[in-house]
Amino acid sequence: MKDKKTAATRQGGSKALQIDAFRDIHHQVMTTERTNIGKNETFDVVIIGAGAAGIGCGMVLRDLGIKRFTILEKHEIGASFRRWPAETKLLTPSFTINGFGMPDLNSIALRTSPAYTLHKEHPSGKEYAQYLQAITEHFQLPVREGINVEAIIPENGRQSSFILKTSEGDIRSRFVIWAAGEFQYPNKTPFAGAELCRHYATVSTWDDFEGEEAVVIGGYESGVDTAIHLANRGKEVYVLDPDRPWKTTEADPSLALSPFTFDRLRAANQEGLITFVPLAATKIEHTDDVYRVHLSNGKSYPTAHPPILATGFNGRIPQITDLFAWNDDGFPIVTEESDESTITPGLFLSGPMLRHRNVIFCFIYKFRQRFAIIGHKIAQELELDTAVLEKYRSGQMYLDDLSCCDVNCAC
Ligand SMILES: Cc1cc2nc3c(=O)[nH]c(=O)nc-3n(C[C@H](O)[C@H](O)[C@H](O)COP(=O)(O)OP(=O)(O)OC[C@H]3O[C@@H](n4cnc5c(N)ncnc54)[C@H](O)[C@@H]3O)c2cc1C
Repeated sequence: MKDKKTAATRQGGSKALQIDAFRDIHHQVMTTERTNIGKNETFDVVIIGAGAAGIGCGMVLRDLGIKRFTILEKHEIGASFRRWPAETKLLTPSFTINGFGMPDLNSIALRTSPAYTLHKEHPSGKEYAQYLQAITEHFQLPVREGINVEAIIPENGRQSSFILKTSEGDIRSRFVIWAAGEFQYPNKTPFAGAELCRHYATVSTWDDFEGEEAVVIGGYESGVDTAIHLANRGKEVYVLDPDRPWKTTEADPSLALSPFTFDRLRAANQEGLITFVPLAATKIEHTDDVYRVHLSNGKSYPTAHPPILATGFNGRIPQITDLFAWNDDGFPIVTEESDESTITPGLFLSGPMLRHRNVIFCFIYKFRQRFAIIGHKIAQELELDTAVLEKYRSGQMYLDDLSCCDVNCAC
C-alpha cells in the first residue's frame, strides 16, 4: 500500500468534536490525497460509503473491536450531504437529549449529537457532513476517500468472501456492508421525457433558477422544499403529485410532510405563489423553447424552463443489482434478522433503502437502529464478544423487534 493514511489520521487524529465542527474542513477534505489500495489487501469487513449509514456502521465495528475493516468512499466524507442544494436543511430536528436515554434524532453514533457539535436544530447538508467528519476524526475511523467501488464479486466456492473491484485496484473482504445511499443515484427517467427535467439532486442552489414560474413534479419533501425556496424568491410554483402528500393524514413521517416543512410552507405561501395540483405528469416534450408537461387528465401545460423532477432515487445500481433480490417497489430484500442479502450471504444493506414488512427506514433515526444489528451478525461470525452492543440497546440504537414500529397517533 503506497499511502496508509486514512481520512482520520490525515486530519490530525482525535480532537474534541465541538471544536472540529467549527473548522472549515471542506477544503481540506477536497484536497486530501487519494489512498491507494494495496495489492491483495484483505479485510474482515468493508463498508461502502462514508455517509450517515457508513460512518454509523463503522462506529459499531470499532466498538466491537474489529480491527481489519475500512470504509471506502468515492468522494469525501458526507459527500451526498455536501451535494444537497445549499438551502436544504435536515427536516428532523436536532436536540441534545442523549442524557435521558434518547439520542439526538440525527445522531448516528452513541454519545454524539449534531445539535451539540453544530449548535443547529436543522443543520444544512454541509453542516451535517461536518458532524460526520468530526466523528471520523474523533474516533479515528479508517475512511479512505476517493475510492469508487465498481463491482462486488462473491468469490466462487468460498462462503462469505468478496473481491471488490475499485477505482484503485482489487481488495478482498469477508463481509461487505453496502451503505452507498440513494442521493447520488437519482431516478431521472420515471416517465417519458423526464430526462428533459432538472432533478432535485443536481441543484446546487435555488439562486440559479431562471424564470418567474416553475413546475415541480413530485409533492413530497424534496418537491415541497423546492417550492418553498422558489416561492421565497418570488417565483410562481406549480407542484404536481397525484398522491397529494400535502394532504395526507398518515402519521408515519416517512409518508407525511414534516412539521418543519409545513411551518416553512405556511410562511412561504402567504402570497399564494404555490399551487398544488393533484395530477401526474405523464410525458414531457420540448419544442420551440417550450417544455410541454402532459398531465394525467389529458391536458398539458407549457412552461419556459425545465421542470424540476422531485420524484426520488433509484438505488438499484449495477454494483448490487444481481446481489440482492428486489421487491415489487424496487427495494432490496434482506433478512429481518440481520439486514443481510437473502441471495448473497455476507453482504449487508444499511441506509434509507432498508424496508421490512411495512416499515420504511428512510430517516436517520430509523436506519441507525439497525447498524448494531448488522454488527451483531458479523461479530458472531467472527466469534467476537458482542456484550458491548448492550450499550446500543439501552441507548435506543438497537432495534430487533419491528412490532414497535407501527406509527399510529390518536391525535
Ligand atoms: C434532500 C434530502 C433531505 C433529507 N432530509 C433528511 C432529514 O431531515 N432527516 C433524516 O433522517 N433523513 C433525511 N434524508 C434521508 C437520509 O437521511 C439521507 O438520504 C442520507 O443521506 C442517507 O445516508 P446514507 O449514508 O445511507 O447515504 P449517503 O449520505 O448518500 O452516503 C452514501 C455515501 O456513499 C458514497 N458512495 C456511493 N456510491 C459509492 C461507490 N460505488 N463506492 C464508494 N462510495 C460510494 C457516496 O459518495 C456517499 O458519500 C434526506 C434525504 C434527502 C435526499
